[in-house]
Amino acid sequence: MQFEYHIKYSNRKTLNISVERDRSIIVRAPEHLTFEKIDKLVQTKKQWIQEKLNHTQKYPIIADSKEFVSGETLLFLGRNYQLSVVEEEIDGIEFDQRFKISKTNQHKANELFKEWYLNQAITKIKPLVVKYARSLGVEYNKIKISEMRYRWGSCTPKNNIIFNWRIIKAPMYVLEYLVAHELVHLIEGNHTFEFWNILSIQIPNYEKAKNWLKKNGQLLEIDF
Ligand SMILES: [Zn+2]
Repeated sequence: MQFEYHIKYSNRKTLNISVERDRSIIVRAPEHLTFEKIDKLVQTKKQWIQEKLNHTQKYPIIADSKEFVSGETLLFLGRNYQLSVVEEEIDGIEFDQRFKISKTNQHKANELFKEWYLNQAITKIKPLVVKYARSLGVEYNKIKISEMRYRWGSCTPKNNIIFNWRIIKAPMYVLEYLVAHELVHLIEGNHTFEFWNILSIQIPNYEKAKNWLKKNGQLLEIDF
């Protein structure tokens, strides 16, 4: 089994591996260790890592809990909206300060909502990427909306910007932050002082968005 892990170099003397709550693997290593040496050491810890990753109590996978019945609420752009299951025929999801679906579609509500949220994510995120790319003077390759859990967004070495569709549950100011954050990575790959400096010019109140994400991080692990 192959693991993906992130290496963080520091002035520590020994290698330390940790599995984060989001199941990402962080390897903290002394600066002088070569990648080959680090990888060798990580491979010897494979079993330990696997055990950690399988520990569902410490790293819970929260089951999707919506039943899609009238009166339930769904989070969208930072607000909760009520769902009405109605007798009339509706094509998919109707949204106007509340969600509406047909009773006949209730059995596939999960898929319908996922499709609806994905579309909303694309529609809302794309203009923000255009806006902040222009403002930062950076060029990206493609914008992708993904299924990945445990991460809000990422950017690839090929300058593709990837976002988790579940971020559409967050308020607009949080979306702005997440988009700007990933685009600043095209200038500065790590979370250095310089990184936050550039970001704060784009998003002066980014701390507020970070706090929202800290409080609501578990939303990544459930669909709705
Ligand atoms: Zn980052």
